Amino acid sequence: MIGTGYRVLQLYRDGAWVASTGEATIDVVNPTTGDVVARVPTGTVEDVDRAVSVARRAFEDWSQTPVTERAKLLRRVSAEISKRSEEIARAAATDIGTPLAVGRSMHAELPATTFADMADRIERFEFERRDGPLIVVREPVGVVGAITPWNFPMHQIAAKVAPALAVGCTVVVKPSEVAPLTPWLLAEILDEVGLQAGAFNMVSGLGQVVGEALARHPAVDMVSFTGSVRAGKRVAELAAQGVKRVTLELGGKSPNVVLDDADDLPAIVRGTIRSACLNSGQTCSALTRLIVPRRRLPEVERLAAEVAGRQRVGDPNQPATSLGPLVSQAQYERVLGYIHRGIDEGARLLAGGPERPEDAGDGYFVAPTVFSDVRSDMTIAQEEIFGPVLAVIPYDSEDEAIEIANDTPYGLSAGVWSRDPERAERVAKRLRAGQVKVNGGRSNPVAPFGGYKQSGLGREFGAEGLQEYLETKALLS
Ligand code: NAD
Repeated sequence: MIGTGYRVLQLYRDGAWVASTGEATIDVVNPTTGDVVARVPTGTVEDVDRAVSVARRAFEDWSQTPVTERAKLLRRVSAEISKRSEEIARAAATDIGTPLAVGRSMHAELPATTFADMADRIERFEFERRDGPLIVVREPVGVVGAITPWNFPMHQIAAKVAPALAVGCTVVVKPSEVAPLTPWLLAEILDEVGLQAGAFNMVSGLGQVVGEALARHPAVDMVSFTGSVRAGKRVAELAAQGVKRVTLELGGKSPNVVLDDADDLPAIVRGTIRSACLNSGQTCSALTRLIVPRRRLPEVERLAAEVAGRQRVGDPNQPATSLGPLVSQAQYERVLGYIHRGIDEGARLLAGGPERPEDAGDGYFVAPTVFSDVRSDMTIAQEEIFGPVLAVIPYDSEDEAIEIANDTPYGLSAGVWSRDPERAERVAKRLRAGQVKVNGGRSNPVAPFGGYKQSGLGREFGAEGLQEYLETKALLS
């Protein structure tokens, strides 16, 4: 059924909204109601070609624009995102199913922070340094192809577009076709602030067509990808044919390690469930494995069941809702499949399960689900579920806890808890992950973020996130 406020979206190229060279479109579905809320063009290889040649041409001027000018534009983008925060949160509630409060902070405030931070960083950045007789110069890498997923779409685009534009690169973005409403709002904002035509371009469509065309395009110098390991490997393979620079932000199965002297179990369990259920569990850095001393397991189980049972699942537009639906039918079936798998493998269900939560409605709703007695070799302890599912895993010694924490193909994020800050830090350094929250350390939007192992290559945000978009040239005299 076509929903209210239905929109037909277009591609963005060379400073204008344009039609695709193809006829086909993709329906965008509201996961709470099942209504079709928008239609995006199924872009073509020809659309990618056109966008890349525009970006190539624009690079000549944009890379020469004074830094202060670029910083000013990025600050304008940041201010405009903040101003339109409510609209962005409503859009994310509509196509992703994110509760409004989470939408305001994570779908709007985070990208606004990224644009402002990159503006500040670029003004402080040393593009040239002397090293004895050498002058070492940092220059923009060129045309960037950015491929992004649907779970925090504007944030993930900002993570690439803000540093790329800041250093003088031009960009062609291929957003996810599943939840395009917030990427289109960002494109509108970039259009309105008066960015040079061609510096930012956007082509929607399928990964296998538009994404792959971008990854293999000879005039693209760098591909920055966020998404699944499967697609990330394919992108790296295609980009390798042109020896392009590649950054990959992939999945996670992140551990939260509670050492035997940790205080305040109620706060730890609350925080872990909040993390595992954020955006209905569709968060790459979610702490989805709670690793606890065996003797404290009964207390953890009691707390986890209680906290999970208190979550309000339902319409993301209602202020009391803590979890909306999953984004799509496919994601819903995938998550239910993992819940059944956990039961079949012998894990013990403490809360939630495969039944639709009561009173939530007919959308793709899954109850916050907690399993205990999980062993590290079970599928639900190894694979990224991308739904509100927490695995509680007991251990008997500190070394075993660390071994379990590191025992997955992933290494994106982690947490560690101990009454002794030095012990916590020592254990944090043994966890193979790109970010570790030590004793509940707060999320920091400008901290470098990225993965060890199959969670990715390279970093986003902060100084490291900026430098990914730079080449190094040595002037010898
Ligand atoms: P996905 O890999 O299916 O899609 C991501 C993007 O890649 C989409 O735009 C898609 O169209 C495109 N794509 C798909 N196949 C492609 C191909 N063969 N070539 C080029 N592009 C292709 O992932 P998703 O389902 O949209 O997102 C969920 C995944 O993303 C999860 O695994 C999650 O952990 C990961 N993720 C990682 C981070 C991070 O920063 N590490 C952040 C968010 C999500």
